[in-house]
Amino acid sequence: MERDKYLSAIKPRMPEKRYIHTIGVMETAISLAVKYGEDSTAAETAAILHDIAKYADEDWMRQMVKENGLDARLAEWGSEILHGPVGAWIAETEFNITNEDILNSIRFHTTGRAGMSKLEKIIYIADMIEPNRKFDGVEHLRKSASEDLDIAMKACICHSIRFLVNTEQPIYPVSIECFNDVISKYA
Ligand code: GDP
Ligand code: FE
Ligand code: FE
Repeated sequence: MERDKYLSAIKPRMPEKRYIHTIGVMETAISLAVKYGEDSTAAETAAILHDIAKYADEDWMRQMVKENGLDARLAEWGSEILHGPVGAWIAETEFNITNEDILNSIRFHTTGRAGMSKLEKIIYIADMIEPNRKFDGVEHLRKSASEDLDIAMKACICHSIRFLVNTEQPIYPVSIECFNDVISKYA
């Protein structure tokens, strides 16, 4: 089964805690896919692979960005931002995943982007609300996800941008593009 193949590929690349998080994202993404009429196997694959590059060496990731012509804006950012795009690149080159929707769901799982697909929203939201996540406001996000995918996406990107501003962290332009897109559509 593909699920077992991908799970055994990611397990040695991350600490136990991150693996447990990944299982949580997988289960949450599958249930959102069923609820909102998305392909649950695609959701499963994207969820399992979404953090595959989370613990990859930062310099190696920067080199991959350069050598493979990934978004040039990535060059100045750390692994928090790099692991999505590099993860998508690994999914494509190492696991031969060709489904662009799955690749984009991995690529943009941290920042979101303008014009996200249903699968991309599912992975972004599942990553934030999976059962092992514990932060103030997560219950509100879970409730929102049980009601409406777009409203939940808006609540999640707003939460993320608010957190970044409150902790005085630089915001990657693609995260802002996502925020602007979502708040104009779902006011
Ligand atoms: P994780 O990989 O499962 O821990 O979750 P994510 O991939 O969603 O996020 C990784 C980290 O990136 C989190 O600490 C987020 O707060 C952070 N992050 C998300 N968007 C941005 C951004 O635009 N700028 C910065 N500096 N960090 C961000
Ligand atoms: Fe991540
Ligand atoms: Fe994650």
